[in-house]
Amino acid sequence: MKPHIIVSASLFALIVFLSIQFYTIINVYQVRSHDFDTRYNQVIREAMDELNDYSPELGLDSMYWYMDKISFYFKGIGYINDPKLSDSLKATFYDNVMSIMTVTEPFSNRISYKLNQQNMDPNLRAGFIIHDYTVINDFDDFPIVRNDTLILGDVNSRVLNQNLQGVLLDNFRVERSFFSVNFDVYVDFTRKRQVIYSEMIGVLVLITVSILIISLVFYFTLRNLMKQKKISDLKSDFINNMTHELKTPLSTISLANQGLSNEDIVKNPLKIKEYSNIISRQNKHLTQIIDQILDISMWEKQKINLVLKQIDFVHFLNEKIDSFKLVHEEVQIKTFIPRSAFFIYADAFQLSIALNNLLDNAVKYKRGELNLIIDLIVNPDEMILKIKDNGIGINPNDQKHIFEKFYRVNTSSVHNTKGLGLGLFYVKSIIEAHGGELWLESELNIGTTFFIKLKK
Ligand code: ADP
Repeated sequence: MKPHIIVSASLFALIVFLSIQFYTIINVYQVRSHDFDTRYNQVIREAMDELNDYSPELGLDSMYWYMDKISFYFKGIGYINDPKLSDSLKATFYDNVMSIMTVTEPFSNRISYKLNQQNMDPNLRAGFIIHDYTVINDFDDFPIVRNDTLILGDVNSRVLNQNLQGVLLDNFRVERSFFSVNFDVYVDFTRKRQVIYSEMIGVLVLITVSILIISLVFYFTLRNLMKQKKISDLKSDFINNMTHELKTPLSTISLANQGLSNEDIVKNPLKIKEYSNIISRQNKHLTQIIDQILDISMWEKQKINLVLKQIDFVHFLNEKIDSFKLVHEEVQIKTFIPRSAFFIYADAFQLSIALNNLLDNAVKYKRGELNLIIDLIVNPDEMILKIKDNGIGINPNDQKHIFEKFYRVNTSSVHNTKGLGLGLFYVKSIIEAHGGELWLESELNIGTTFFIKLKK
């Protein structure tokens, strides 16, 4: 299956999974909320039954006693002042009744007590809706409240809330000597959400952990998939490049061989020599490629083995540059190399492979005429070698991968030079085996500088 199909399918599956989890949480919340209402309702009913049974000793009666008292008092003022009662007087009276109800109200206390007994959350507020309140007078009654008005139990934070979410406890109709009242009592559980969340905490944690684990697994699986894809692309590129690299010398050898069997050429010793030279050059080239491939497969298993000897790097470098100049006369080389010797412990053979690779690459990836600047900076205990070319350069994205095995810059867009993508990997492995560092600076269409740092 194509990777992008796998990625889309698994992304889709992940989104479905997350939505199901989300849906599950909402469902669990609703079930818990329903369960909460049922459990708390039951306790409230029990509390109310007890409240009714224990009356008149308990709070309800004392509340009515106060109401009767204030109604009697009010009857006096109302009668003296104006039988048609002013609105402000009514409001004052109403305030007083509310204060009595909220201060002396026995419902919350009783219910809280019951809830506590059952180890349930006892935090609640009671609310009242007074439908009617009438002060009873000898000749004429004074109706105080006609409209529904709701007030919650706490006097200090009286909240008029018409959308009370609480549970209706009961409707009360009471008549005493000086008043009659008709009111509903509601209770509102202030910490309902917290109680439900705390009950759900286990489920929430499990769901969150499972989401986290699945997301992590998803991430790592996708990352591995991408890596595998990259490796398989690199491998197929490598095989294509290797086939090309092997075929070119082979077909040259076969052509030279055909030439050698030509009678005209057999008679001409100079031609024979030329053809045999071609064959031996291509043979050497083939051997180099095969060695490189063999070396790489060896490195899969073990680290590169160095034969360390003390060498004068200045002398070594000058020699390498001289032999490079012999083969590439067309290249302009400027060198800044100190005269005095700089001794390091190194494997001269491996180091020359590394240097040749860098210099060969400068030739392979040149842009017009190649100018090289070779700079050796020597410090007391380390040296830095800079090899700077004015070639095609490497873009920042490719720079990140350039030292990876089989990595080649996308050839069609940048250059057509064939290779195995092993050279720089080779160089890096050699330098690192020496305990050194290799890095580069490069700008597209300007050039590239490779830096090698080696310690004494
Ligand atoms: P190969 O040359 O066989 O492709 P290398 O590992 O030597 O493999 O190089 C990897 C890639 O780095 C090359 O394909 C080339 O695109 C880029 N490269 C290496 N050296 C240079 C350079 N001096 N200038 C520009 N590009 C370079």
